[in-house]
Amino acid sequence: MSKILHRSIHADLPVAVGGRGIELFDAHGKTYIDASGGAAVSCLGHNHPHVLAALHAQLDKLAYAHTGFFTTEIAERLADSLIADSPDGIDYVYLVSGGSEAMEAALKMARQYFVEKGESQRRHIIARRQSYHGNTLGALAAGGNEWRRAQFRPLLIETHHIAPCYAYRGRLAGEGEYQYGERVANELEAKILELGSDEVIAFVAETVVGATAGAVPAVDGYFKRIREICDSYGVLLILDEVMCGMGRTGTLHAYEQEAIVPDLIAIAKGLGGGYQPVGAVLLGRRIYDAFATGSGFFQHGHTYMAHPMAAAAALAVQDVVREHGLLDNVVRMGELLNHRLQERFHNHHSVGDIRGRGLFRGIEIVADRGDKSPFDPARKVNVAIKREAMARGLMVYPMGGTIDGVQGDHILLAPPFIVSAGQIDTIVERLGDAVDAAVARSVA
Ligand SMILES: *Cc1c(COP(=O)(O)O)cnc(C)c1O
Repeated sequence: MSKILHRSIHADLPVAVGGRGIELFDAHGKTYIDASGGAAVSCLGHNHPHVLAALHAQLDKLAYAHTGFFTTEIAERLADSLIADSPDGIDYVYLVSGGSEAMEAALKMARQYFVEKGESQRRHIIARRQSYHGNTLGALAAGGNEWRRAQFRPLLIETHHIAPCYAYRGRLAGEGEYQYGERVANELEAKILELGSDEVIAFVAETVVGATAGAVPAVDGYFKRIREICDSYGVLLILDEVMCGMGRTGTLHAYEQEAIVPDLIAIAKGLGGGYQPVGAVLLGRRIYDAFATGSGFFQHGHTYMAHPMAAAAALAVQDVVREHGLLDNVVRMGELLNHRLQERFHNHHSVGDIRGRGLFRGIEIVADRGDKSPFDPARKVNVAIKREAMARGLMVYPMGGTIDGVQGDHILLAPPFIVSAGQIDTIVERLGDAVDAAVARSVA
């Protein structure tokens, strides 16, 4: 019997023993296509030789030095390369060990920024329903996933939530996409005015919503309006690109497709591609300067921040993405994946919506595509899809609670950036079979 407190105590997990390319192998010799990169993590697939070599080299040089005493060449190189690759407006990096840590740091950085500027009356965080920002208490409080929050509510800091931009469910009959986007973006302004026009610290959003709703991009114009509202009231815009960032949607940062620049960006999953635990906050000069000309000190820190092994992994992963031109493959294979999903599912009685960008695609499962009604959550259709897919040697990332934290099911696809056209075909074939089998069982 396992001595690990696993995520799900009664789950019978296969033992992963190896991986190569987009595949993972278990102890019985079974092969799985990793079409979700775990949870949109493994952007280069598994055992990439360049990343392994970089990790071996760093390990031989130096595994760890505390950031209270030293900086390291490898962490400095990672920061230089992240800034060089980012669009204008992103000038500095704060390195941590994962997505939740990045979001915690971003929230505290935003608050301290206003303290440094003498606006310490600013205290409110506004985020969106049906979002996920991590499982530590601050990040969990910012998140809008009711199921994840419910039992911990007494421990959560006060936060405020507005509607997500989720056109499939939220757009009214007869309302244009653009009008819909303006309407839900304007909820931010209403909330700021309700809380006090100079009392809000930041608005937090995933640029493309990940696990909670299944690869939901905003409609055209939404983030432009959000940026305008933030600017009108001096509110910082924090984008959580932990899942959708670092090339996943076809541009290095997902916000590049929204033609805006955020103030703080959290990145993590695709940054190190799973080769080491690593995350980061990217920030502009304005935030940095407030610290530099103020206390000179960000009152935060973790033992393993800017860890040399994590920096080596992230640097190597990002080098491969850049030097092999993998963002082009994300765009091309993303279009093919979308095309194949449309072919296989656009007339499927249990598929209501197919959405996403690049190699970040979501399928919303419904009981009736006509009235968009979901399956009874008690049927756990998403759990059945995951089981049927695993049985067919396919990893996808299905979740429930798509609509409101309880109702709805979706499947998230996030294959590695190295995926080929032939592999896309196999993924969609196996997924189609898994969905059919799971749905047949759920209606039986
Ligand atoms: C996964 C995720 C997080 C949390 O990252 P961890 O590394 O699991 O702590 C935060 N935000 C988003 C959008 C995520 O998908």
